[in-house]
Amino acid sequence: MSTASATRAIVCFARRARNGAVQQALQILGVAEGPDPAWRWYEPGLLVARVRGTPRPEALEGVRALPEVRRVVALTEGRSLFEGGPERSGPVPVPLGHGVRIGGGDVTVIAGPCSVEGEAQVCEIAERVKEAGAKVLRGGAFKPRTSPYAFGGLGEKGLEYLARARERTGLPVVTEALDAAHLEVVARYADGIQIGSRNMQNATLLFQAGCLSAGKAVLLKRGFAATLEELLMAAEHVLLGRLWADADGPGVILCERGIRTFDTDLRFTLDVGAIPALQERTVLPVIADPSHAAGQRRYVPPLARAAVAAGADGLLVEVHTQPGRAWSDADQTLDLAEFRALMDSVHGLAALRTGRAGGGR
Ligand code: PEP
Ligand code: MN
Repeated sequence: MSTASATRAIVCFARRARNGAVQQALQILGVAEGPDPAWRWYEPGLLVARVRGTPRPEALEGVRALPEVRRVVALTEGRSLFEGGPERSGPVPVPLGHGVRIGGGDVTVIAGPCSVEGEAQVCEIAERVKEAGAKVLRGGAFKPRTSPYAFGGLGEKGLEYLARARERTGLPVVTEALDAAHLEVVARYADGIQIGSRNMQNATLLFQAGCLSAGKAVLLKRGFAATLEELLMAAEHVLLGRLWADADGPGVILCERGIRTFDTDLRFTLDVGAIPALQERTVLPVIADPSHAAGQRRYVPPLARAAVAAGADGLLVEVHTQPGRAWSDADQTLDLAEFRALMDSVHGLAALRTGRAGGGR
C-alpha cells in the first residue's frame, strides 16, 4: 500500500449484503482488489475500504445510493472514531439509561459484587451501594477465571437477578460478556456490556459487542498488558460495530484496571497516568477500577482517590455485604462501611475538582 494520503470509506450494508453489492461499492470507490486488498469485511455487514487521496463526492454518493447500503462515512486516514469521527468534538458523555451517564465532569461510581451469587445477595448489595451514592450496579454472571476449576458465574440466572436488582433500585446494570455466544443474552438484560481485560484484543467480540449495543453502552477494560494505543484501537472495533448498528453517540467507556509490571505486592499496577493521557486522545469517558488493580481491599481507597484526583470520569468498585464470603475476589472486595467511607472521600475530591481549573473534564 502506498503511503500517500488516503481516506477510509466505512460502508454500512444491510445484514449479509450480496457479494455483488460489495464488489460494486469497491468499484465505485476505485479500490483495487488483489493479493493485498485495501479493504476489510466485518460480518454481518460492514466494509472498511482504503481510498487513495480524497474520494470524489460523487463516488460516496454513488455508494450511498446502492440499495443495500444504509450509511457511508469518510474518515481521513489517521483519524479515528474514538476521536469523535470526521469532526472532532469535545468529550462525549455515555448514557447508561435510568438517567445515569458517565462523563461530563462528574465522578460516577459503579459498584457491586465481583460475582452475582443469588437474588437476595445482589438485591441487598444494590440497595446498600445505592444508599451510599453509587449510580450503577455491577456484578458478573459470566466470569473469566484464571483457574478452570473456579466458580464461573451463574450465567443467565445471574442476569435475571441483576435485572431484579435494577427493578428494585432503579440502578442501571453493567455485566460482562465473556464471548460472542453470550452477547445476545447479556445485551437483553444489561444496560452496559462489559468486555473484560482478558478479552480486550478479541476483535470479533469487540465488533459484535458494538453491533449489539445500540441503546446500551460498552464498558471496555484495558488489557493488563495492553498499551494505550491498543486500548484505543480496541475501542475503535467497538465503535465500528456501533456505527453499523446506527447506535447513538460513541457509547464506549474506557476503564483503566491496572497493568502487569515487575511488582508483585499488589495484584496489578494502577496506571494513573493513563487517565489524563487517554482523555487527551479520545472523546470517550475514562474510569478506573481500583479493586482489580489493588487485589487487596486496604489499597482500594487510596487508589480510588488517586484516580479521581487524576481526573477519572468514574470508578468501578467491588463491594459485598460479607466480603470474606464472596465467591470470587474476596480479598479485594470492600464491605459496606469501607465503601461508604470511600464515597465520602470521593465526593470531597470531586467537589475540589469542579472548583479547580483543569481538573477532570
Ligand atoms: C471484572 O470486572 O469482573 C473483571 C473480571 O475484571 P478484569 O477483566 O479487569 O479482570
Ligand atoms: Mn472481580
